Amino acid sequence: MKITRFYFNMLPVNCYVLWNDNSRECAIVDAGCYYTKEEETLARFISDNQLTVKYLLATHLHFDHCFGNAFVAQKYGVSLCASQADEFLLQLMPQQCQAFGIPFKGKIEPIGQYIDHGDTFVLGQEEIRAIAVPGHSPGSLAFYVPESGFVLTGDALFQLSIGRTDFPGGNHRQLIESIHKNLLTLPSETVVYPGHGPETEIGIERTENPFL
Ligand SMILES: [Zn+2]
Repeated sequence: MKITRFYFNMLPVNCYVLWNDNSRECAIVDAGCYYTKEEETLARFISDNQLTVKYLLATHLHFDHCFGNAFVAQKYGVSLCASQADEFLLQLMPQQCQAFGIPFKGKIEPIGQYIDHGDTFVLGQEEIRAIAVPGHSPGSLAFYVPESGFVLTGDALFQLSIGRTDFPGGNHRQLIESIHKNLLTLPSETVVYPGHGPETEIGIERTENPFL
């Protein structure tokens, strides 16, 4: 599985495109594109690489990870896949934006398909496995690609840091538990691609992350 990262919007969010080299199928994870220019950057990447968008996945439904969901859903005819436990956050999106002084723009894309822990998404012959990591938000998910040895952790786990838990539905103890139980148990050499900031490895976070 190949992976490319984009930095989108003012916060900025890591948006990832995962694709299979043979089938040219791809998944867009956390479509945080806010500006028209960012939508164009994403669309150009898809067309330049002759990819077919098969999935639109969300690690969680905080506004900064969702700005481009409606754009991607409409342009590529895919439905948003996310956890039902985060669905309430969609209605809070205009308020969330306001709290950060960001003009709310576009429309709120509803969830088209719920994701549960253990669900898999297939690109070519390769599997993306959903892992529940609640705490930063109730429905936070990680996406693990075992064959390629990487995991997308959203805002649960960052390089030497963890997600904040002061947003609606956040729970610090639950987050720590999720990370220990469902992320730190992955192989040490697993590369971690977080929702913000640079990548890291599970083994490094297991031994050096001061919050764990
Ligand atoms: Zn978040």
